Amino acid sequence: MSDTFKALLVSRDENKNQSVAFVDMSEDDLMDGDVTVEVEATTVNYKDGLAVTGLAPVVRRWPMIPGIDLAGTVLSSDHPSWGAGDRVILNGWGTGETHYGAYARRARVRGDWLVPLPNGMSARDAMTIGTAGYTAMLCVMALERHGIVPSRGPVIVTGAAGGVGSVAIALLAGQGHQVIASTGRASEIDYLRQLGAAEVIDRNELAAPAKPLAKERWAGGVDAVGSHTLANVLSMTAYGGAIAACGLAGGMDLPTSVAPFILRGVSLLGIDSVMAPRDIRIEAWRRLAAELDATKLGSIATVIPFADIPQAARDIVGGKIRGRLVVDMDADS
Ligand code: NDP
Repeated sequence: MSDTFKALLVSRDENKNQSVAFVDMSEDDLMDGDVTVEVEATTVNYKDGLAVTGLAPVVRRWPMIPGIDLAGTVLSSDHPSWGAGDRVILNGWGTGETHYGAYARRARVRGDWLVPLPNGMSARDAMTIGTAGYTAMLCVMALERHGIVPSRGPVIVTGAAGGVGSVAIALLAGQGHQVIASTGRASEIDYLRQLGAAEVIDRNELAAPAKPLAKERWAGGVDAVGSHTLANVLSMTAYGGAIAACGLAGGMDLPTSVAPFILRGVSLLGIDSVMAPRDIRIEAWRRLAAELDATKLGSIATVIPFADIPQAARDIVGGKIRGRLVVDMDADS
């Protein structure tokens, strides 16, 4: 019998009522995989909030240890690419959904899912970025492939004070883009300007049902909200522009028309982080390490202990979290 460690477990009873509890587990309880990792830091993404609260069907195997992101050190490995002591990051691949995830001291995962922690980046920094930040970078890379350079005009970021939004603003502003941040929280205007937003607009401007076409306001953007917001963002995108769509914080629907696509040549770029190929992940993390300003990273992060994850999950689905939550597994409650 190996040592025990704490894990956060979500379970369901026969009536499908969900409960969440901290439990003691041993390595024998972990699921199959070829690498065992000591988890040093994790985070609470919007998706983790949905999994822990049960507000949306993120968990697809019961019981489950949620947590889609982790950073830590390899304890043991049967995978050719990894050995004990290697520092690693894991984002997605179904961890916290179908495979036991990050909310435990130890995780057993597939070595193919891991990427190296970039040199000079701490586990905490990696989790400040987390899936939200890595997704923001995937959005930025998609906009670049589409030729959205700063000289084309401003770019919009929706869900601006959230995790994806905060990192997207920092990255785009760092590249010289004029960033328009859309937020529902007037209290975060200073924070958004500090990240590099040139202009902050009220998200209500984008919340009503969209016209097929409206005044052209931006050349491109990153949308974390979906629904009417994305429809408005598309109808206000300048000729030949592109919007990277990655989120559904405002709804999963997209009540739009084909007008932006067929009359203005606008492109909608779909972004998925969960199953993104490994070479793209490694490039995204290399660029995050190189391009994210350390001061901005510090202002995005709020560090919490492991014991606070259930409350943080409720807060993030309630839209109360600014930037990114970092769970330091060694921090005291
Ligand atoms: P956060 O909760 O940190 O941020 C979401 C932000 O969206 C909020 O801070 C808020 O911004 C805004 N928002 C929330 N509710 C509404 C609403 N009803 N209408 C309009 N705006 C709203 O989440 P993340 O940044 O981690 O994730 C953002 C979205 O991206 C989520 O839907 C998430 O599931 C998705 N996602 C997708 C990934 C992928 O692979 N495609 C990967 C990672 C995330 P503000 O207060 O500034 O208005």
